[in-house]
Amino acid sequence: MSSGMGSGSAVVVGGGIGGLAAGIGLRLAGWDVTVLERAAVPDDAGAGISLAANGMRALAALGVGEAVEAASRRQYTGGTRTPDGRRLAVMDGQALERELGAPIVGIPRAALHRILREALPAGSLVIGAEVTEVTDVTGTADMTGTADTADVDTSRPTRVRVAHGDTVLDADLVVAADGINSRVRRRLFPAHPGPAYSGSTVLRAITERPVDGLTADFELTWGHGAEFGHIAFPDGTAEWHAVLNAPAGVRYRDPLTEVRRRFARWHEPIPALLAATRPEAVLHHDVNELVTPLPSYVAGRVALLGDAAHAMTPHLGQGACQALEDAVTLAAALAEGRTVEDALTRYDAVRRPRSQTVARDARRAGRMGQQLANPLAVGLRNAAIRLTPPGVMVRTVLKHADWSPPRITPRAA
Ligand code: FAD
Repeated sequence: MSSGMGSGSAVVVGGGIGGLAAGIGLRLAGWDVTVLERAAVPDDAGAGISLAANGMRALAALGVGEAVEAASRRQYTGGTRTPDGRRLAVMDGQALERELGAPIVGIPRAALHRILREALPAGSLVIGAEVTEVTDVTGTADMTGTADTADVDTSRPTRVRVAHGDTVLDADLVVAADGINSRVRRRLFPAHPGPAYSGSTVLRAITERPVDGLTADFELTWGHGAEFGHIAFPDGTAEWHAVLNAPAGVRYRDPLTEVRRRFARWHEPIPALLAATRPEAVLHHDVNELVTPLPSYVAGRVALLGDAAHAMTPHLGQGACQALEDAVTLAAALAEGRTVEDALTRYDAVRRPRSQTVARDARRAGRMGQQLANPLAVGLRNAAIRLTPPGVMVRTVLKHADWSPPRITPRAA
């Protein structure tokens, strides 16, 4: 099995945004790719997502930028408000697009997943395939905990064992894109403490119909320890999210009634968004993150990517954007580098500092934004924001959006 470029085979564990993007990128780099996804259907279809300019540029580098733009709504208007409707910061998405060279958009997750899936050739995405073991040339990472770690053959390529039946795939590289609860990460970094609860829980849904009076493309409203936001879509429907400070594991018997109660006195279009929602559409998740940074995104010939590597809080809307950056950077390094090992070293060196900085800033943004509950502190923060010149606040939030993708150019054989 060659370790040179443009002729390798890779197995990607996980077919979320990061795994699908990695699959597309590696194919552009000239690799044979199999993406293994344990779920039979995408399980996050009931929500939406914002993609900042960096995410859009990564998608363009993967060849799906136009398809994503066509299915999404540009975020030109909106900003941040207080529950009584007063504006804290106004967003000028057109100015940001001019400056950053790419738009900020809102898109249903299901549409983004579909576009990414369709960019992979038939057969390279295998669904219903749960990976239980990754065996690396540097040692055995057996996720069932039963393999013999002494059984290491350094001449053998990286190997992935898939749980359904007894299928075993051999590959030059494994990309672990198996999300925040990554089993591959747990196995490769057993001393790492894993994800921790952020203190916030999030309820969200997509409205069942277009919402009257929805003028802002994207808006956040900050109360005391609570945030309500929406992302509008091209057809006039929208995703709304309610983020609350709460003990871990809190659940409500009737989540939509609870959100309506909590946000009853907040400004329009919040009541209108909630009125246009079916109770069964509401999703509820606790927000977890990797507080302790990983010491490496690479172990032997396994590269960690997306939430498996750097799950962050959603307060900057950057988690998926960082996963997309990972995918493009990994593919470009494999297309250009001399060996798989060199390419992985470069991937880790480029991606780890940046994504861990974004994760830290997302945590800080949450503490100063949605999570701030003390009335005095909230008042001081709001006064400080109002004194900030227009645009500066939004620029601060979007400072990570200024990113240019490396080119994925396979070296001529
Ligand atoms: P995941 O989406 O978790 O995908 C992992 C996949 O691996 C899953 O499909 C899973 O089924 C599969 N899998 C797991 N284990 C195995 C296995 N053993 N074998 C096979 N398959 C396996 N980011 C943004 O950029 N913008 C936003 O606006 C935004 N909003 C957010 C709002 C909320 C409330 C939250 C919680 C997050 C938000 N994010 C946002 C972050 C974003 O959703 C994540 O960062 C992104 O989805 C991570 O993608 P991923 O592919 O790394 O992981």
